[in-house]
Amino acid sequence: MKLVLIGAPAAGKGTQAARLVEHYGIAHISTGDMLREEVAKGTELGNQAKSIMAAGGLVSDELIIAIVQERIKKDDCAKGFILDGFPRTVVQAEKLEDMVKLDHVVYISAPDEVMLERLTARESCPKCGATYNKLFLPAKVAGVCDKCGEALTQRKDDTVEAGKARIATFHEQSEPLVDFYKKKGILFEVDGTQAIDEITKAIIAGLDK
Ligand code: AMP
Repeated sequence: MKLVLIGAPAAGKGTQAARLVEHYGIAHISTGDMLREEVAKGTELGNQAKSIMAAGGLVSDELIIAIVQERIKKDDCAKGFILDGFPRTVVQAEKLEDMVKLDHVVYISAPDEVMLERLTARESCPKCGATYNKLFLPAKVAGVCDKCGEALTQRKDDTVEAGKARIATFHEQSEPLVDFYKKKGILFEVDGTQAIDEITKAIIAGLDK
């Protein structure tokens, strides 16, 4: 199964992707995670992306397309994959058309206020990657990872200011993808304001139809 998850920042793409990957046994491709790894390693690519990401903008189509093109050739993608955070522009979507035939596109929608509130409450573990949200998925001990005991951190772009910029970027650059994929007849929308389990159920029901 080849799948794309679309949604504004903090709509729940990463959380749902992790569950779907487990359910369907396919690869999880998060372009945001890949870029954050490059930033952490201090590579040339990471240095190029760092300030753009911190300001809530998008890295260039050319660069991100090249990364995805390489990534989907890897062995773990043979059974299928979930693209989480790609495409984010119509140019990227058009390029993706040349690379693969998608089975489904899932649009996780939620109002801006909900996403901004969630985004600033997010935390993650720098060691094992577990993610938390102070509003609805808090760590058992505040600020400490349940799984490995490491101190939790906040993404640099999960501030109110960067969050607002990322939501604006979503409306300007990524929302046109909803129409793009609707016209192709492969998109279905899921209400992202529901509880995490309910969203997963709705997505799986839509995919298995
Ligand atoms: P995410 O973790 O998906 O929210 O991505 C974090 C940041 O990485 C975004 O705000 C962008 O700056 C950058 N990024 C991730 N995916 C893409 C993409 N497909 N196109 C351009 N920039 C991206």
